Amino acid sequence: MIDDLNPTRRNLLIGAAALASASGLAAGTSPALARAPFARTQPAYFYRFPLGKAQVTMVSDGTLALGKPSDTMKGMSEAEIAQALTDNFLPTDSVVLEQNIAIVNMGNRLIMFDSGMGFSKAFGTTTGRLMRSLGEARIRPEQIDDIIITHAHIDHIGGLATERGRRLFPNATIHISKVDHDFWTDEAKLSDRTLGLFVRHARANLLPYRDRIKWVTGGQEVVPGVQAVNAPGHSVGHTIYLIESDGKKLAFTGDVTHHQILLTERPRTEFAYDSDPKQAVDTRLRVFDMLSKDRIPMLAFHFPWPGHGYLGRTGPETFRFFPAPMAIG
Ligand SMILES: [Zn+2]
Repeated sequence: MIDDLNPTRRNLLIGAAALASASGLAAGTSPALARAPFARTQPAYFYRFPLGKAQVTMVSDGTLALGKPSDTMKGMSEAEIAQALTDNFLPTDSVVLEQNIAIVNMGNRLIMFDSGMGFSKAFGTTTGRLMRSLGEARIRPEQIDDIIITHAHIDHIGGLATERGRRLFPNATIHISKVDHDFWTDEAKLSDRTLGLFVRHARANLLPYRDRIKWVTGGQEVVPGVQAVNAPGHSVGHTIYLIESDGKKLAFTGDVTHHQILLTERPRTEFAYDSDPKQAVDTRLRVFDMLSKDRIPMLAFHFPWPGHGYLGRTGPETFRFFPAPMAIG
């Protein structure tokens, strides 16, 4: 073929081939060269949408890999779990959760809901992204007025203080259930084989704020526009929050459910980290009933990013998560 080409074009082709082999890009081993190389960057890990007269910014603390699904999901057989994950195009070897932290600007105060893993690497190195995500969203830690906590587990209180006990949010008041705070900061549990890790981190992150903590009670207003709702079971004092602005509602549901399929389409599945799995199931069904009946959008802490959507009832005790469309305003 080359012999058919005119001399100028032929020389060009030979020159190009020589260049390719000289740089190690021999034919057959290199990808086609696009006009741009593969990019190495990702978009920032925040997402912002309006809620009435307030503004919600979701920021991520990164993904959290729980490992083998049957180690954490109880009440379904390994085969049932694998089938449910496969049917939903999810990997079957590990359950990977997001950590969706909400920052709500009510106009007169900036409120953060939960805080991620912080310095702990107990669930791998992809967690602990909160500060970077806040920076990407142009939110400074000192601007946060209130931090409202669902429960004192490591992935919800972890981002409050440094390993040396310095408060990362110098102007914030912490709002948390007293029952949950006292359970997870209890010195006597430090030596417990299963609870010890969680207690150590709850103490490291909450004790530096001991003079800036306010107790939340279910049924009461935490700050204007935010109501606490008792949701125990996953943890002794687990509390969820209804946020309201100008007639628009949003529920920050913490760990009522960790998984959009295994604990939502099958809400009677039990979760290994529940303090009281039976009570957690009752709470899950009660909260799901309220959210689906009243069509209240939810922010699910561990659902696929950014965890914003609705629950629809699909049967007497089955539900489905419907992600909300992008709403930039
Ligand atoms: Zn959690």
